[in-house]
Amino acid sequence: MSDRASHAWRRRVRARILALPRGTTHEDQQMMARAIELAHQAAARGEVPVGAVIYKDGVILGEASNDREASSDPTGHAEVVALRRAAITVGGWRLNECSIAVTLEPCPMCAGALVNARIARLVYGARDPKAGAVDTLYDLCRDVRLNHRMTVIGGVMAQPCAQLLTQFFRARRAAKRGAQVIP
Ligand SMILES: [Zn+2]
Repeated sequence: MSDRASHAWRRRVRARILALPRGTTHEDQQMMARAIELAHQAAARGEVPVGAVIYKDGVILGEASNDREASSDPTGHAEVVALRRAAITVGGWRLNECSIAVTLEPCPMCAGALVNARIARLVYGARDPKAGAVDTLYDLCRDVRLNHRMTVIGGVMAQPCAQLLTQFFRARRAAKRGAQVIP
C-alpha cells in the first residue's frame, strides 16, 4: 500500500470508529442494520418507520416494526411488539441478559416496558425530540428511583434511522397536500 493510500485508509477507519458511540459492538451494528431493514418494511406498509430487534449472544429472540395502524393498537410500537415476541421465545417475561436495538429513542411507554422486562442494554439510533424518554425528555432507563436500570448507547447509525423518518413524514405531507388539491 502506498503512503497516500495507507493514510486515506487510516482516515476512513478513524472516521468509522469516531462515528460509533463508545460501547457499541459489531453485534450491535449488525442488529441495528436489521432494525433499519424492519423500519423500511414498516414505511412500505404506511406505518411510521421504526424497527426493533432483541438479541442475546448473536441470536435474535424477537424483532418487530411499528404496527400501530395495522393492529389498531396504541401500544403497537416496535419495542413493545418485539418484547412480546422475545418473551415468548425465552418462555418468560424476564429479558435481563438481552439487548435491544431500536432505530428511534424509545417513548415513555416503551422505555417503561424495557425497564419492566429488565432489559440489560438499550442501543438506539435517532433521538426523538417529541417523545424521547431516554435522553431527550426523560431518563427512564437510568433513573435510580426505579427498580431496574440498563446500559444505554444512543446515536448508533443515527443518520439513516432519522433519514427514514424524515422521508416518511415528508412523503406523507406531500400526499396530504396532493389529496387536498384533487377535490
Ligand atoms: Zn414507544
